[in-house]
Amino acid sequence: MKVDDAREGLDIQSLYPEELKTKLQAMGEKPFRAAQLFAWLHQKQAETYREMTNLPEGLRERLSKEEPLTVLEPVDMRESRIDGTRKYLFRLPDGNVIESVWMKYHHGNSVCISSQVGCRMGCRFCASTLGGLTRSLRASEMLGQVYRIQKLTGERVSNVVVMGTGEPLDNYEQLVRFLRLISSEQGIHISQRNLTVSTCGLVPEMYRLAEEKLQITLALSLHAPNDEKRQALMPIASRYPLREVLAACGNYFEKTGRRITFEYALAAGENDGGKDAEELAGLLKGYNCHVNLIPINPVKERQFRRSGKKMVLDFQNKLEKCGINVTIRREMGGDIDGACGQLRKSYMDNQEKNL
Ligand code: SAH
Repeated sequence: MKVDDAREGLDIQSLYPEELKTKLQAMGEKPFRAAQLFAWLHQKQAETYREMTNLPEGLRERLSKEEPLTVLEPVDMRESRIDGTRKYLFRLPDGNVIESVWMKYHHGNSVCISSQVGCRMGCRFCASTLGGLTRSLRASEMLGQVYRIQKLTGERVSNVVVMGTGEPLDNYEQLVRFLRLISSEQGIHISQRNLTVSTCGLVPEMYRLAEEKLQITLALSLHAPNDEKRQALMPIASRYPLREVLAACGNYFEKTGRRITFEYALAAGENDGGKDAEELAGLLKGYNCHVNLIPINPVKERQFRRSGKKMVLDFQNKLEKCGINVTIRREMGGDIDGACGQLRKSYMDNQEKNL
């Protein structure tokens, strides 16, 4: 694994095995202790040094003082009565709260994690961006969401999607660390093919990611068939025109062999018409891709409404007739306050009221 500059000031759970070895050697420890410690942190997901019983007591005491562990504290959980989906709210060591979602599918359990506290991308239909960006998460805080949920549910997590609050490519170094650590054979070992990163389309980072030699799926939030409509929904579209974003997607496919997923949130009267579908089909012609239609989750601070069932099906049919592979996102946990970031938002609104 590559060592990069982002290790400065990192907590111990965000370090690669080689970095852990260097750290322990600098503390005067034998190199094999690093493998033991890594297994405790990432395979057994220990939350205290106390439980690491095969490490010498002196070392455990020293680590407790010098390298406090990053532990996520669950502060709220809501479970859907419809499909068992659970939304967790976690408190980070600095007091910030983040949201993660656990979903059960027939092919296994999936966790949707946050990559930042808040977001600065400003997509007009999204709840996560309403308060702006507070800070990016460390790799350990992304890992912690998966580890904690696996412990709390007692069930193995087989898929992770980085589709919660935040723009993952706006937190590039920590994201890549997270992806390598979560797929590490010495850790929880989730296959890279079962990892998906969703981006609003940060073009330079998409090129960079294509060079990382990762087998993950890249999902692009497209949401519109042309620049004008995309700019009305997503401020980032004014920085990177569709032509550039799609070229970056093409490059990702070429370099990794991984088919791109295009996400398209349908908002009534905005981007869900027959003409939009035709234009979209033209735009994606020749791409080896998959389109995921998401009926928009209305956010009360925003004016967007969800497209009707018939509109969604018509939209799907039109794309399929043009030979495009389409799915409609199965709605999960519709009764527990759908849209990303809404549980966190209602928690924070309540905190404010109580002050
Ligand atoms: N920042 C990343 C990942 C987080 S959002 C991105 O933009 O892709 C995950 C997906 O949910 C994105 O496709 C995003 O556009 C979409 N999304 C956000 N708010 C939504 C809402 N209210 N209804 C439906 N989809 C939404």
